[in-house]
Amino acid sequence: MMKRILVSCPPISDDFGYYCYIDCIIRTSLKDYDCVFHPSIFYRFTHKNISQFDDTLRQTDILMLSCYVWNWELQLALADRAREINPDIIVVGGGPQVHEPYYDRFDHVVMGEAEHGVRQILDGTAEHVVHSTRKTDFEISPYIDNRDMLLAQREQAKARKMALGVIFEANRGCPFACAYCDWGSATQSKVHYFQQDRTFDEIDFVCNVLQPSFWFHADANFGITDRDIDISHHLVKAKQRTSFPKAFYYSTSKNTWKRNVEIAKILHQGGLIDTYNIGIQHTHKDVLEASVRGNIKPDQFRIIGSECQKNGIPTNTQMILGMPGDTRAKWFQSLCETFEWGFHSETKVYWYNLLPNAPAAHPDYVKEWQIETKPVIYNQARLLKDHDEVIDKAADIIVSCKTFDREDWINMNIDTKWLQALHNMALLRHTAMYWRFTHDVPYETFYRQVIDNIGELGEKFNEQYEQYLRQLLAAGNRTDYIPFLFNGELVKTEVEDVLILYLLEHKDEFYEIVNKKWGHEDLIDYQKSLVLDMDYDPDIGRTMSLKHDWVRYFNDKTYIDPPHLNRDIVYKTNQSEIKGPTDFTSSRMLWHKTSNQRRKLSLFQKAALGQLDWRGEQRMVLKEWKNV
Ligand code: SF4
Repeated sequence: MMKRILVSCPPISDDFGYYCYIDCIIRTSLKDYDCVFHPSIFYRFTHKNISQFDDTLRQTDILMLSCYVWNWELQLALADRAREINPDIIVVGGGPQVHEPYYDRFDHVVMGEAEHGVRQILDGTAEHVVHSTRKTDFEISPYIDNRDMLLAQREQAKARKMALGVIFEANRGCPFACAYCDWGSATQSKVHYFQQDRTFDEIDFVCNVLQPSFWFHADANFGITDRDIDISHHLVKAKQRTSFPKAFYYSTSKNTWKRNVEIAKILHQGGLIDTYNIGIQHTHKDVLEASVRGNIKPDQFRIIGSECQKNGIPTNTQMILGMPGDTRAKWFQSLCETFEWGFHSETKVYWYNLLPNAPAAHPDYVKEWQIETKPVIYNQARLLKDHDEVIDKAADIIVSCKTFDREDWINMNIDTKWLQALHNMALLRHTAMYWRFTHDVPYETFYRQVIDNIGELGEKFNEQYEQYLRQLLAAGNRTDYIPFLFNGELVKTEVEDVLILYLLEHKDEFYEIVNKKWGHEDLIDYQKSLVLDMDYDPDIGRTMSLKHDWVRYFNDKTYIDPPHLNRDIVYKTNQSEIKGPTDFTSSRMLWHKTSNQRRKLSLFQKAALGQLDWRGEQRMVLKEWKNV
């Protein structure tokens, strides 16, 4: 008898989603079966509007839910609703978030890849927990195979004012086994490569026909073989021909730095990436070993850092706060070590989300490392909109373990915000570089002393951020929404941005404190002039009068202590734009055109603090200085 199938895979955001790849995979896998499909659910919903699916659920035999950390609560709510509306419905759960003790909420749980699992269900041979065998034949592209469905989805997305991206794979599997990761339960496994011609055809189809805003390249290790160099060239050609995708994200391969740099150059020059994202997670060998990443060689990162600098590719390092084996001191060293390696422009820090099917969630590992987690609402910003209505997910964050306690966790977070503000966002980067390169003072020593000696000014931020973190730690249940209030105002931006704006508001006091401690007044004056703030007006410009030629010192990169000049050297700038590597990352300075303080602030935040993916290097410092 013909089966009617509905696939649900809501995204993380209300504003963007993906062409429903899992629906395409299932449709292609069940092509020879007697079944029809409803349009997939590729958008978020709430308790209030979940009834929009009632008619469809009445006409559905099998509901297939693709579960991730960000849609878990939604999928459970949909499963409950489906059973209420249609008691005969078969509910199938798959994806990385399905875990014990939730198996009984589903008629079938698919472990592993979907293709074989859904066929067992349609064949009637499936157990409650379905173990699918790994797919090895990837001749058919699920995208090309489901063109009409995808074009219909594009129309639906337009009506919903949602941007659509693609999830794209050119291979499956990962030879590594990082303890925190659950890459579709396909870690520590043989990598199955798709036929290269099929991949090229699929790239052409996606760019020509689907024209996605963003591209999430889902290979666990892009750059693992030379094939990925050819794929990069093909992607660049497709981008140049079609202008799509607008943005490209990928996970780099490990231990293949030469190929990684080559790929970064191809993608950067081809306009596909603005920054080179590099997952370092931590720099200490013993911390990496505790997460089974000991075989990933840290030395390669230093070379990658210098190669990226040489080729003008901005970087974006990703680190995980709260890894077993870490301590407050190691964490601080680790962030500073990435600066030593040449990664200055952006450090993205993620809390350690203990995924239910990751090796680190195994009871033996949890016991060994005495791991304590705390549920934290996954997407706090979304809840600001309508937190009574939104169904969201609390991620289980590691907040203490054998090697650090909750107090350490709080302090690690505070240290992180200071390092992001002072170094990535450049409030003190040049000063730190001078001490590093000319006097051999490690970044760690410099920043530790600065942060520990900011005094009352720093405490005002620290106390409020600490209070917020303590409230998170004390929250009673998984739906508690904890707002961050700073000086009585609800914070809707990144915490480090709050710190930057606060320090800029107290700019004179801040630099005076640093000057007292580090005593190179002329250098501090230079650093202070360099930093963008809301007082800067490009029509008037900014002039600095220096006793040492710091502009030359940093441009030449010889780092020889500049001599005290007989008379001051004067530089001026009227820089009116912040130039990123693409139009998307560039912005005009407009805040001087309004006297309305709120508007001023919002224009400054947008242009200077700006996009998350491209902030540090260019955005907070004035660059166009001329000797006058
Ligand atoms: S984090 Fe990356 S390298 Fe490590 S197991 Fe997961 S997919 Fe593989």
